[in-house]
Amino acid sequence: MHKDSKIYVAGHRGMVGSAIVRKLEQEGFTHIITRTSSELDLRSQQAVEDFFEEEQPEFVFLAAAKVGGIQANNTFRADFLYDNLMIEANIIHAAHKYGVEKLMFLGSSCIYPKLAPQPLKEEYLLTGPLEQTNEPYAIAKIAGIKLCEAYHDQYGCNFISVMPTNLYGYNDNYDLNNSHVLPALIRKFHEAKENGANTVTVWGTGNPRREFLFADDLAEACLYLMEHYNGRELVNVGTGEDITIKELALLIKDVVGFEGEMQFDTSKPDGTPRKLMDVSKLHSIGFKHSTDLEEGISLAYEDFKNKIVEV
Ligand code: GDP
Repeated sequence: MHKDSKIYVAGHRGMVGSAIVRKLEQEGFTHIITRTSSELDLRSQQAVEDFFEEEQPEFVFLAAAKVGGIQANNTFRADFLYDNLMIEANIIHAAHKYGVEKLMFLGSSCIYPKLAPQPLKEEYLLTGPLEQTNEPYAIAKIAGIKLCEAYHDQYGCNFISVMPTNLYGYNDNYDLNNSHVLPALIRKFHEAKENGANTVTVWGTGNPRREFLFADDLAEACLYLMEHYNGRELVNVGTGEDITIKELALLIKDVVGFEGEMQFDTSKPDGTPRKLMDVSKLHSIGFKHSTDLEEGISLAYEDFKNKIVEV
């Protein structure tokens, strides 16, 4: 990528896309193309093709997706499958048709089988059944990976796939019905503290283990891989370290400064028991994350508080 390359960031208003745009700007890239969802419906093939014909992007970061936490994934199963399939198929096909030099597809750690050995190596893809709660999303993301591989094999396209672990950071979604655990708990502990409540409810048993990566570290990894990685095989992007949901809750409780108790609502699903990425491939390509979890949670909490003040 040159500093004046035409770079399309799909999904620039989301947590990941906005972090990628910020990073590109910091690094001095001057020709970044974006569209909001009301300007361009990525589920419409015609609209996407018209956009590519008009803008002729040279590089594409495909960070647009319908995303959400365990409850949203499990409830809006058709939307998660359909929207994500359409977005990926339209963009990846148009990228081929209009001669994009390189495309990066962003997936998710939930593409791996529910009971795969841990840490999750890239080669475990499609070796077993998926976690039921987010199967539609995972199936769509697996289709995206396979599209990139197939366009690479059949047409020689330089389309690469990266699989981020659970993410958090600036511009996260704090809506308790469809957010992921980390932003949900920031909000719950903050509101409990503000309201002088005695308890905060954490979903599930607290025993599942998850890995968390600060979205700005992912964005840095994305730029690094766009510039240094041309392989057909996917690359995991994570920290290589995980903690239990209970430990996470205690950490957030501390950062927020909530002094009450936590209770676990076991009527809510735990989801997959453990999700930890094997990041040896990422490290061997030359990238390692830089923000530790406590520091990242503090930054995210500041962002959350600023957003409340703005509203
Ligand atoms: P997952 O990684 O796809 O399972 O998605 P989540 O980030 O939504 O959930 C991770 C784990 O955190 C699951 O075991 C949830 O039950 C648990 N969890 C605990 N409290 C909450 C909460 O308030 N919201 C969410 N989304 N998950 C929670």
